[in-house]
Amino acid sequence: MKGRNLLMIPGPVEFSPSVTEALSRPTDSHVSPSFINTFGEALEKMRSVWMAPDGYPFILAGSGTLAMDSAGSNLVEQGDRVLVISSGYFGDRYAELLKRYGARVTVISAPPGSVPDMSAVEDELKGGGYSLMTFTHVDTSTAVRVNPVPVGELGEKYGVITVLDGVCSVAAEEIRQQECGIDVVLTASQKAVGVPPGLALLVVSERAMEKWRNRKSPVGNYYADWSNWLPVMTAYLERKPSYFGTPAVNLVEALNVSLTEILAEGMDARFYRHRRIGRGIRAALKSMGLSQIPENDSVSANTLSAPYYPEGVEGPSFLKKVAALGVTLAGGLHPANRQKYFRIGHMGVAAGNDLVSTIAAIGTALNSCGYKTDTGAAVNALIAEL
Ligand SMILES: *Cc1c(COP(=O)(O)O)cnc(C)c1O
Repeated sequence: MKGRNLLMIPGPVEFSPSVTEALSRPTDSHVSPSFINTFGEALEKMRSVWMAPDGYPFILAGSGTLAMDSAGSNLVEQGDRVLVISSGYFGDRYAELLKRYGARVTVISAPPGSVPDMSAVEDELKGGGYSLMTFTHVDTSTAVRVNPVPVGELGEKYGVITVLDGVCSVAAEEIRQQECGIDVVLTASQKAVGVPPGLALLVVSERAMEKWRNRKSPVGNYYADWSNWLPVMTAYLERKPSYFGTPAVNLVEALNVSLTEILAEGMDARFYRHRRIGRGIRAALKSMGLSQIPENDSVSANTLSAPYYPEGVEGPSFLKKVAALGVTLAGGLHPANRQKYFRIGHMGVAAGNDLVSTIAAIGTALNSCGYKTDTGAAVNALIAEL
């Protein structure tokens, strides 16, 4: 008896017992030799998980939005032209955030469920004048996944710095930062990285650092300014004490444990496991007759799914019935249709039995809402893919 529900939302997610154990240890000094070593190790492991051996890793106390703010405020100056490729709610958030720092933002978006057209992106870049381009690897409001490879290629071709919002993807969906030529890959602790909420994480390329070093104006955000944090990260990497703002000591210790477990699984094995989970959940939903927001499999995320409620099923009452069966799911988030769908997070340590319980709870709740479906067949469709 865990005494609580299975948390199957797109973050926070279920955490491994050793992560929980690391959090419960007495808090160490942030300048003790043992904590300095832990912080340094976590930074080094980020480079391996991000697949950016030459990148500059940052660990900041804050949520994923701070990671977005950190990249945005440090890489934008008044009047800079920025292209935002938006595949949902979080792309639109990035556009608003960048405007605060004086960017002239152009948004290329697509209807919920589809990915903006890369030829439209290239046409826009050809017009020239862009210094930065952002995109969302997995938009958590639509469960749409954007392939980072062509975006990285366009960024290199047109000399535009690329920022990937990987809050719902890093450590689960395939992203090889350095190979793809993506300049900033950012995330937060509570999603596929597998640590409770509270850490903003990013790895920055040399090319983006160069752009930041050549700024003409100071960074418009005091807390996020890399001038304050780069010396701290460099010191921890060299196993020396340093201070700007007190780090979230317990969360950093838990992060080091989780990154160790992620690397022990292996990045390729982890990408493959999430692809199988994604296929399995989509197959189960399809077998229950539910349609999903992403228009096809090739743009579907493997970290979460976003199915529509069937005709006649009321969202709030369905979600309550699922919760009564021991599984917590999330409602919709995209402003265009948030009442019409729900979201299932399936990233990180989510295991086969968690997924079976989730599909069984969804099938049972649908039946008790008056929508007749074969729960056993859905569970079989899931298991066939795992
Ligand atoms: C969750 C999420 C965010 C925001 O992260 P917070 O930790 O809630 O601030 C940003 N982008 C994406 C893609 C997300 O999934």
